[in-house]
Amino acid sequence: MKLNPEPLPITADDEAIRAAVAVASPVPLLAALAQITGDPSLLRDDLRPDPSQILDPNGGLDENQIAQARALAVAALIRFRDGGSVRVALPEGPTLERLLTWVAGGALEPAYVPLLEEELALGGDRRAPAWHKRELAPDADFKVAIIGSGMSGLAVAHRLHQAGVEFTIFEKNADVGGTWFDNVYPGCRVDIANHFYSYSFAQTNDWSSFYSPQGVLLDYFRACARDFGLREHIRFSTEVQGATWDEARGLWVLRLRDSTGRETTAEANALVSAVGQLNRPKMPAIPGIDRFRGESFHSARWRHDVELGGRRVGIIGTGASAAQFIPPVAEVAAHLTVFQRTPPWLLSIPNYMDELPEALRGLLRCVPEYGRWDRLQVFWRTHEGLLPAAVVDPSWPHQERSVSALNDGMRQLMGAYYDAAFPDPELRARVLPRYPPISKRIVLDNGVYPRTLARENLTLVTDSIAEITETGVRTQDGVLHEFDVLIYGTGFEASKFLMPMQIKGEGGVDLHERWGGDARAHLGIVVPVFPNLFLMYGPNTNIVINGSIIYFSECEANYIVESVRLLLERRKGSMTCRADVHDAYNRRIDAGNRAMAWGAATVNTWYRNEFGRIAQNWPFSLLEYWQQTRAPDPADYVLR
Ligand code: NAP
Repeated sequence: MKLNPEPLPITADDEAIRAAVAVASPVPLLAALAQITGDPSLLRDDLRPDPSQILDPNGGLDENQIAQARALAVAALIRFRDGGSVRVALPEGPTLERLLTWVAGGALEPAYVPLLEEELALGGDRRAPAWHKRELAPDADFKVAIIGSGMSGLAVAHRLHQAGVEFTIFEKNADVGGTWFDNVYPGCRVDIANHFYSYSFAQTNDWSSFYSPQGVLLDYFRACARDFGLREHIRFSTEVQGATWDEARGLWVLRLRDSTGRETTAEANALVSAVGQLNRPKMPAIPGIDRFRGESFHSARWRHDVELGGRRVGIIGTGASAAQFIPPVAEVAAHLTVFQRTPPWLLSIPNYMDELPEALRGLLRCVPEYGRWDRLQVFWRTHEGLLPAAVVDPSWPHQERSVSALNDGMRQLMGAYYDAAFPDPELRARVLPRYPPISKRIVLDNGVYPRTLARENLTLVTDSIAEITETGVRTQDGVLHEFDVLIYGTGFEASKFLMPMQIKGEGGVDLHERWGGDARAHLGIVVPVFPNLFLMYGPNTNIVINGSIIYFSECEANYIVESVRLLLERRKGSMTCRADVHDAYNRRIDAGNRAMAWGAATVNTWYRNEFGRIAQNWPFSLLEYWQQTRAPDPADYVLR
């Protein structure tokens, strides 16, 4: 997979250009063409997307408008080709703002402009550190240890590398990729459009699909590790068992264990945990779980050696993972029984499993700006744009089914899809969620999941599970469902941040004892009493619907690199977050989450920890997280 490739000149004939434009999204295409040709007449007011049409990839344009937009784009592309595929200078200032405002639908808060410029990354990486250790503190001996080489570990490693800061990544697996290395279940694919589920600094035209499968994502992260020179900094098959802050020396001492069981130590001035939230499989607390005599495994530890073809298979769970592997398992099993406790809301995405048409790939190779504007449109429309639909309106009278009029509108839109996708009213009644949309992760669907649930060889069980026996699962109604294979799609120990590592900070304070199961951090990144410890994808940095974790990781990586800069600039050895700053921040986060669909609704979610607190989610805008993570405020810290 090639990262940030140079655009190729257009050599396609008019017919091929027409074919490519016919499968492209008109809004990002017109924006990309206006950018590379410098022709503002392409940004016609009557073809501007309607910002209220957040779920429509065509921005609410009707058929006639789409046809006009495509005709404009074809003519512009032909002119561009005939002119030798020569680009005008990159847009800046008012020219860029005009483009951004058009894509945003006609109005854009000025505060968004610098953020969108970074996200768009025209002309390359806009978030590279503006400093280098060789200029700032050439003699300082400063090392960073990063735990994990998944998506977030690679992001922070790349930034440290750019800033010339020494670092080592300790990775328990034999390769990079984290969740995309661990989750190899059939049907696994990303459920955020590729151009947005990718680093702003590493765009590619090699996506196989609109929402690529696991293997392609793994290739992408391998390419990032290789091309950014990170691989040689990774110690694979090395698990960090714990880390202790040595106060006298101002260092973290890590305890490591390799795949042979050999234990060693390593030292670092700063420690970054990039271990992810969703990597420790959660087995349900169902009586008799160890009694089952057939084969059983969790979705994140898929056993490809276990034959499913022609066998009786049971699946517990209907979350985002199970919804992806239920269809391929149903294809091969003699009979599949699915145990559904809470049905997911399904959102219709017709191209969810489609491969990128060759014509579109050709367009992307010649006009990669189209991918960048598509990324921006996704950011704006379905990510920042969806947040208002999650905000609770306390005066809304139907809180049990939706949290506001806007949220109810989403419910109606998604509910209408159930009418079409589940023609059998009995099945429809069993799968239609009763809780408000966006209070739980929404599952994307292109019709495959509903068709699968209606298969002859599939039984959907909605009675609750009483126990697991030697031969199967007994439900509360007394029925024993017998299986050869039982698969747990029961999620992850998401609230147990950084487990099972033992982390000891100032005065030997244990991180897990301090948290007591209720993990919190300032900005999700730093914890009082734990100097120079930085978390990626820490508490309250997850999003339910409105964003990609990659975005958060880029923000966190920036904050961490700027923290290292602060230490080097001030010639300090450590920075510790002030408890009052941390506590005030967390009070605000908790209040924010209570005002959101996922905080107000009572439905089961992995977002809520054992104390009922939403420990996972960020309740505010993407803009706000970016603003708060530009750089550490020295006043928030004790610097020593
Ligand atoms: P999950 O969302 O936690 O789903 C677990 C499922 O197991 C739920 O249906 C849950 O029911 C059920 N369950 C748990 N314990 C049970 C019990 N004792 N009895 C019956 N049912 C039980 O886990 P996941 O599906 O692995 O997804 C986790 C997260 O990973 C997602 O929310 C998403 O953020 C991420 N993910 C992303 C992708 C992607 O991008 N492609 C794919 C997969 C996952 P309840 O709903 O009632 O709790």
